[in-house]
Amino acid sequence: MPTYRYLGNSGLKISEITYGNWLTHGSQVENDVATACVHAALDAGISTFDTADVYANTKAEQVLGDALKGQRRESLEIFTKVYWPTGPGGPNDTGLSRKHVMESINGSLKRLGTDYVDLYQAHRYDTETPLEETMQAFADIVRQGKALYIGVSEWTADQIRAGHALAKDLGFQLISSQPQYSMLWRVIEDEVVPTSRELGLSQIVWSPMAQGVLSGKYVPGRPLPQGSRATDDKGGARMIQRFMTDDVLTRVQNLKPVADELGLTMPQLAVAWVLQNDNVAAALVGASRPEQVAENVKASGVTIPAELMARIDEILGGVVERDPGKTAEDAPQGRVA
Ligand code: NDP
Repeated sequence: MPTYRYLGNSGLKISEITYGNWLTHGSQVENDVATACVHAALDAGISTFDTADVYANTKAEQVLGDALKGQRRESLEIFTKVYWPTGPGGPNDTGLSRKHVMESINGSLKRLGTDYVDLYQAHRYDTETPLEETMQAFADIVRQGKALYIGVSEWTADQIRAGHALAKDLGFQLISSQPQYSMLWRVIEDEVVPTSRELGLSQIVWSPMAQGVLSGKYVPGRPLPQGSRATDDKGGARMIQRFMTDDVLTRVQNLKPVADELGLTMPQLAVAWVLQNDNVAAALVGASRPEQVAENVKASGVTIPAELMARIDEILGGVVERDPGKTAEDAPQGRVA
């Protein structure tokens, strides 16, 4: 059973292993496999589920909602997001305008088959909408009871600070940030994490396994494992490219003795690693098969001694990305149509 952690300075507890369905539900995997993965998560004690309106252009929310049908709502924490374009791609089917935020939450609730989500997240920062307008829309959604808490994803430290201040004035709290974080991608450590600690936000981190790369299954010079994300022509293969270099893959293979020493599998080591950071409330893990969920959840509650954390740093060396500027650099420069 995964351990629970508080989300930011709130009273909400979430399972530190959270299940996410980006690239899988409604896309890479068939619906019966998706449902089996959700049930494997529930069986393993995972109660927190993360999705977004944009995943598989709204299909992922539907698949997750269907898979969770019949579960006791109070025993689940359901998270979704708004920002990226959905639907037919009209001028207001994107961004964080009041119009799109208000319309998107209604669509998400319908697809998820619930009256409220526990956490509603701004999936990116919208440079084309005044932040005041977005935060007012979020405040109204909280007052309407359609979302219990509000978070952001891939915002810079300055954007988090500005959003947090406005939320406070409007009488609600920004409690979470959802950034990419793994042994290979540590760009939040210098700015986003200290700011979040100061303001009372937690991180819910995505791609803790670097999309499967840190599982060690991609071996340099060997064929890609069949059915893996690196072979997924519906989007996965493109998304994982950043990590698919010989240097990264070779160094990842060298982590195996560290995992062995801890009695963990490589996927478990990757997930346990992000959970060593006490500002991380949850590792958001994806899965294309139910067995992966059962394996990954065992990373909960593991302590990695300081000397092994240092050895991991030595092994990965220069392939680790730490530049805090990457959050802004990777962000969309204008609203995406
Ligand atoms: P991971 O780094 O956990 O990668 C998951 C993938 O790795 C699986 O789909 C599977 O792919 C492979 N894998 C998982 N477990 C194992 C295992 N035990 N052995 C071997 N391979 C394994 O996370 P994701 O990249 O999927 O992201 C997780 C979640 O984070 C998303 O679902 C979403 O909720 C969130 N997210 C948020 C973003 C944001 O902008 N806010 C962006 C991206 C993700 P396969 O079997 O196909 O190789």
